[in-house]
Amino acid sequence: MEKVLIVEDSKAFARVLIRKIEDELFFDTSWASTYEEATYILEESPERPDFFVALADLHLPDAPEGSVVDYLISKGIPVIVFTGVFNEDHREFIWSKRVVDYVLKETPDSLDYVCSLVKRIYKNKFISILVVDDSATVRRHVRRLLEVHDYSVIEAGDANTALDILSRTPSVRMIITDYLMPGMDGLEFTRLLRRSHHKEDLAIVGISAYAEELLSSRFLKSGANDYLNKPFVSEEFYCRITQNLEMLELVRKLKETSIRDPLTGLYNRRYFFDAGQKFHSCALRDSLTLSAAMIDIDYFKKVNDTFGHKAGDEVLKHVAEGLAGRFRGSDIVARYGGEEFCVLAVNMGREAAVTVFDELRRSIERSRTRVDGKTIPVTVSIGVCCEPGRSLEEMLSRADAALYQAKRSGRNRALVCT
Ligand code: GH3
Ligand code: MG
Ligand code: MG
Repeated sequence: MEKVLIVEDSKAFARVLIRKIEDELFFDTSWASTYEEATYILEESPERPDFFVALADLHLPDAPEGSVVDYLISKGIPVIVFTGVFNEDHREFIWSKRVVDYVLKETPDSLDYVCSLVKRIYKNKFISILVVDDSATVRRHVRRLLEVHDYSVIEAGDANTALDILSRTPSVRMIITDYLMPGMDGLEFTRLLRRSHHKEDLAIVGISAYAEELLSSRFLKSGANDYLNKPFVSEEFYCRITQNLEMLELVRKLKETSIRDPLTGLYNRRYFFDAGQKFHSCALRDSLTLSAAMIDIDYFKKVNDTFGHKAGDEVLKHVAEGLAGRFRGSDIVARYGGEEFCVLAVNMGREAAVTVFDELRRSIERSRTRVDGKTIPVTVSIGVCCEPGRSLEEMLSRADAALYQAKRSGRNRALVCT
């Protein structure tokens, strides 16, 4: 499903497009230079690939204006249209065809815009949007617009039904809600949603035909991300939906990068302490067992000195993978710094910790890291503390003391402090 179909008679333009999409977005492409070739690829070619989006020129030598677009849409493929000319009639004509968007060929930024659209369409099928409106006609209209962009759409006729759907559907990223509805109105619904769903995790867009000029600010003050007046033009609708989702994705990405170590992808030290403190307090309150471990690669300096810094980085990644795969999703595995890692495991008592960490040590010793055809032997020393003490810091400092003991007594061993 990860292919892009390009229908374009200009060989030069097609070539630039293909290069851009394959090199920057890493999607495979198929190219048809005529309507006939497009039908061949979709209906007769032996591989008959699936396309998640098509980029089509409005003018082809063997097709009257726009008919290839109709054909592709009839095949259920979202279409982005290229056009050389632009005027108001033309714009109307293109939008009447239910395309994703149109792009002017000649402008220098058009290729970047096309790429951003292709990426958007690719992601959209994993995104659910919940449309809440008491009018079935409005719901259907909004659904059809959203489906052109390949979103999964769920409908609800009132706020309570929507709340129920939301609680069962974690893929919902956006709610588009009407104002006037029987039962709970859109403003009350928005305020209620904001008690449990942050603006950065769930976008709410208010829409209404109700002619009250303060409605947009009332929606925004109630916690909506955006507001649209009905009737709206499709182009503005799409811009706002896209922009709000992109904002959500950006915030999510920033949050994610701020808690991860870029080399290994493990959590960083800051996240370890932030999340770890909470784990620690919960464990103390509920008398749960808790184990903290410090893990340090043995003679790692020698790896760098012998095989080079890049090979050293590969070893770090390899050890990190081995670590991440051995713990539960609810445990915290982090890169503490340099060649030191730490783990906080909830519900792991002393007895289990002795086994788990010694097995971890052995699995790292057994696994061979290969870099540039050379095998690099790697072992780790581990210090573990299973007493919650007064603080997470105290646990770690005791684990660190055990690690120091493990190093002093010969390395490649796991010691649990008493
Ligand atoms: P020990 O067994 O006592 O732990 O010896 P060691 O050589 O592992 O410990 P030492 O603390 O002397 O050296 C750690 C080395 O790790 C030094 C540093 O250059 C290297 N290092 C720290 N961070 C990175 C990194 O991100 N990449 C690479 N390649 N090396 C790193
Ligand atoms: Mg070391
Ligand atoms: Mg060290």
